[in-house]
This record gives sequence, C-alpha cells and structure tokens, in this order.
Amino acid sequence: MTTRYDAIVIGGGHNGLVAACYLARAGRSVIVLERSHIIGGAAVTEEIHPGYRVSVASYSMSLMRPEIIETLELVRHGFAVYPKKPSYFMPFPDGEHLLLDASDPARTHREIARIAPRDVAGYVAWDAFWDRCCDIIEPTLLHPPISHAELAQRFIDAGCADDYRRLMLLSMRDLLGEFFESERIKAIMAPQSIISTLASPATPGTPYVNLVHAIGRAIHGRRGVWGYVRGGMGMVTQSLAGAAHELGVTIRTNAAVAQVLVDDGQATGVILADGTTIRGRTVLSNADPKRTFLGLCPESALPAAFRERIARNYRTDGTVFKLNLALSELPRYLAAPPGVAPEQIASATVDIAPSLDYLERAWNDFRSGVPSRQPFVEIFSQSPTDPSLAPPGGHVMSCFCQYFPYAVAGRSWDDGLREEVADHIVATVSEYAPNLAGAIVARQMLAPVDLERRFGLTGGNIFHGEITPDQSFDLRPVSGAADYRTPLPGLYLCGSGAHPGGGVTGIPGHNCAMAVLADDAR
Ligand SMILES: Cc1cc2nc3c(=O)[nH]c(=O)nc-3n(C[C@H](O)[C@H](O)[C@H](O)COP(=O)(O)OP(=O)(O)OC[C@H]3O[C@@H](n4cnc5c(N)ncnc54)[C@H](O)[C@@H]3O)c2cc1C
Repeated sequence: MTTRYDAIVIGGGHNGLVAACYLARAGRSVIVLERSHIIGGAAVTEEIHPGYRVSVASYSMSLMRPEIIETLELVRHGFAVYPKKPSYFMPFPDGEHLLLDASDPARTHREIARIAPRDVAGYVAWDAFWDRCCDIIEPTLLHPPISHAELAQRFIDAGCADDYRRLMLLSMRDLLGEFFESERIKAIMAPQSIISTLASPATPGTPYVNLVHAIGRAIHGRRGVWGYVRGGMGMVTQSLAGAAHELGVTIRTNAAVAQVLVDDGQATGVILADGTTIRGRTVLSNADPKRTFLGLCPESALPAAFRERIARNYRTDGTVFKLNLALSELPRYLAAPPGVAPEQIASATVDIAPSLDYLERAWNDFRSGVPSRQPFVEIFSQSPTDPSLAPPGGHVMSCFCQYFPYAVAGRSWDDGLREEVADHIVATVSEYAPNLAGAIVARQMLAPVDLERRFGLTGGNIFHGEITPDQSFDLRPVSGAADYRTPLPGLYLCGSGAHPGGGVTGIPGHNCAMAVLADDAR
C-alpha cells in the first residue's frame, strides 16, 4: 500500500473532498483521512428513527458554487437540488403572518403591500442593494482573498461607496431602518444576519453575515435562492465522494489524525491516532483553525505570536442548538393563511423571530450566560417535497435554534440540560403550532458541545469561526494565515476557517487546491 502521497487531506468534510478532487484532477495522488466513521463533516444525512432520515447539521442549499458542481460533474454523481417554494413564512403571535416567495417578486410585493404598503418601494431598493453588493463580491470568491482596503476600493470604483458603509459598518437593525418602516418586514429580513454569530441585529457588521447568505447560486444559477438537496445534505458529500473515487482519491474513515509531521520546518505528513505514519509532500487541513494550529501542529512548528492570535483573537464560540424531529404529522400553524396547506408552509423556511426586539432579548440571555428563554427557531421540513426521507404519512423537521452557549454556568449539557432545551424549543414552536408536541415520534438533539464532539467543530461554531467582517477576506482566520497558506510551509487550510468562510460552498476547498497547485508550479 502507498504510504506516501502528493497530498494528504485531514478531514472528509465537503471542502476537504472538493480540494482532494481538484488536486486529483491535476494528476496528484491524494488521500483523505476522516476521523468519523462516515465522510461528510457537517453535510450528512442520517436515519434518526426507522424510516426517518434527516440532514443532521446543515440542512439547506444555496451557497455551493455552480462552477464546482459543474467541473466535478456532481449531478452525474447524484447531486440534485430544487428550490423552496414558497421561501419564507413568519408567523406572528397575534395570528398575522408573512409568506414570501423569492422566485416570484410580484407575489412578494403583494404580500409586503398587504402588511406595509409603504415598504414595497423599500423592498425593491433593498433587493437592488444586495444585488450591487453581490455583484462586487461574487467575482472575488473563487480567488485568493482580497484585502479589506481593496474591497472598499472596489465599492468606490463601482460608484457604491455608500453600500460599503452599509454592508460593513452598519448593524442590521440600522440598515433595515434605512429601507423599511414596518417592524414586521424588518423582522422577516433580519435572521440570516445573526446566523452562528455572537451578535444581535444591533451589532455592527451583521449585514455582511446576511450577504454571505444571499450570494449563493446553487439552485439553477439563481442568486439568493435557497432550496434542498434531494436525499438531504449527505448527498452533497456522497456525490463529492463519488467524484473523488472516480478521480482515484483514496478515502479512509475512522482515521483520526493526531499530529502533523514536521521535518526541518516543513509539514511532511501526519501521524494517525493509531500511530500510523503517512507521508505527503503537502498537507491540507479541513479541520478548523483552532484544531489545526493548536491541536494538530507541534507547538514549535508555528510562530508563538501566530498561535496566540488564533487562540485569543479568533472567535469560535458556538451559539446553535440543532433539534431534528421525526413527526407523525406536520405542524399546523395558527397563523397560516386560509387555503395554504401545512405541506406548503412546511416547505418554506419558517422563522420564529417575530421582531428585532425578540432577537435582541434572545441575544441578551446568551450574553448573560443562559440559553435564550425565547429562542430564534428556523424550521425546515424536507419530507413534503422529498418523500424518500420519511415513511408514508410521516415527516421530518429540522429546527436550527439560537442562542445557546457552549458552557452554561452551573450546568452541564450532559445533566439533562439538552433535554430541557429541546422541550423548551418544542414549547416555543407549539405556541404557533399547538399540534407539534403530540406529533413527535423521535428527536435528535445537538447542543454546541455535541456539534464539537460529533463534527469536531471547536466551541460548536458551525462555520469554523464567525463570518463577521473582522474574520473575513484577508483577515480569515487571522491576519498572517490568509490565502490558504499557513506559517508552516507545506501545511494549507482548506476548510471553512479559510476565506470566504463557512457554509456548504466548496470555495475554501477549491481555492486551497489552486494555492497548492500554484506553489507546485513554482
Ligand atoms: C447545525 C449546522 C447547521 C448548518 N446549516 C447550514 C445550512 O443549512 N446551509 C449551509 O450552507 N451551511 C450550513 N452550515 C454550515 C456548513 O455545514 C459548514 O460550514 C460546512 O459544512 C463546513 O464544511 P467543511 O468541509 O469546511 O468542514 P466540516 O464539515 O466541519 O468538515 C471537517 C471534517 O474534518 C474532520 N476532522 C477534524 N479533525 C480531524 C482529524 N484530526 N483527523 C481527521 N479528520 C478530522 C471532521 O470530522 C469533519 O468531517 C451548518 C452547520 C451546522 C453545524
């Protein structure tokens, strides 16, 4: 068996697999070493109860670059996406609702007009604002990160200097205030700006977090549209594994890397937890930056100042609790408009976040060290549109919830807190859909500590580190380690801890492989 490769990839998340595929396409011998018993990292599908399969962690698709899907021929390997329709449903406590459809602007305008006629013009301007920002940033994505100074200059050159102010310097609350009057319209526009972020909508920089969620084109090339992967998110990584196998990549599961091998100041391979040594000309790490630099590299291999910046400056705190449910019936929302079936509502993103103040209160609980008493809950049910995921009559439902601390003072997640929080989330959603509690057949609970234990996500941060402006572009993960190369020659970062950050995008994996090939050519 070969024990020396051109490239060793630590971790079989989607980015590690993308990097492996691009290197193998360029003729390199590549091995992927995954600590878990399955590949996929945070993009996996799993059966949680006989016949009920869920996307365990990541659950919806928009961000994977079409260029990668096409080049790696992922469709031929089983990757299939379809849009959510409608896109967003927000119930309000007084029985009112908003139901938006991103693919039907006229319908969305009518719906906004129903609640807040004066905000229709604001919505048109809002859409145009995000388009201008995406037009400037999207062409940079499949390249090494530009500096913040260059980014600002590109906005200035495009005549959009004020958009830079709005995107990078304002808070989402202030930005929304520049476009909308209605608190309800503001509420439905806000949630993506705080995903996995130690922030409320009142925190400067949150519009950039929103942009990261608005820039995708995986659904038939249409920007900002979100949808599902048939068979759940595991099919993203299964299709990548299919492409990798065809390209001759070796993939090993149950192969935890314990240490990066360093000889004469150069990464030259890895040592597995079972003591096996595997040599490679280059080592790519799909593990997050803290795990990579503080856990896998010998202390002497990296400059002390760099290690300290990673340890102290780079934020990887978790905020997310994921609750996956097997159901005997779909939730029936009290606020659902007449004539719209539960299947249709469930096919949208349903957000329990009825006002900016609600999100602010949820954040304030987290800041004082306790789980949000009134949490933000984002709900998806894929089974109405993909019956392969549940038995006849049954359904699956995913609840992505914030804000939940990794460490709760005086409590351990293992002493019953996980169950208490899950009960509380169900109770929160039941205020809007009272049949939910009685419909639960089985549940899977993932607190921040579980996201760390199961997926290796330090602190439980779903993006390998927040995606705020100060941890983006050439500052990701910290200054001095940008553009996929690291201070240890021969070691590269190919996961979400590298530019442009988290989400199922494939971009860090692609860009890292390009950096390796460019260095080889030199
Ligand atoms: C709960 C949750 C919900 C999310 N929702 C969405 C969503 O709906 N849409 C979206 O686009 N994104 C979502 N995300 C974010 C997205 O899933 C991640 O940013 C992305 O999957 C990370 O991919 P990656 O390949 O960079 O890293 P990962 O998927 O984290 O993969 C890293 C891999 O490295 C392995 N590894 C770590 N250390 C070692 C070691 N020492 N030896 C060997 N292997 C190792 C890990 O086991 C893991 O398999 C979500 C994430 C979570 C957790």
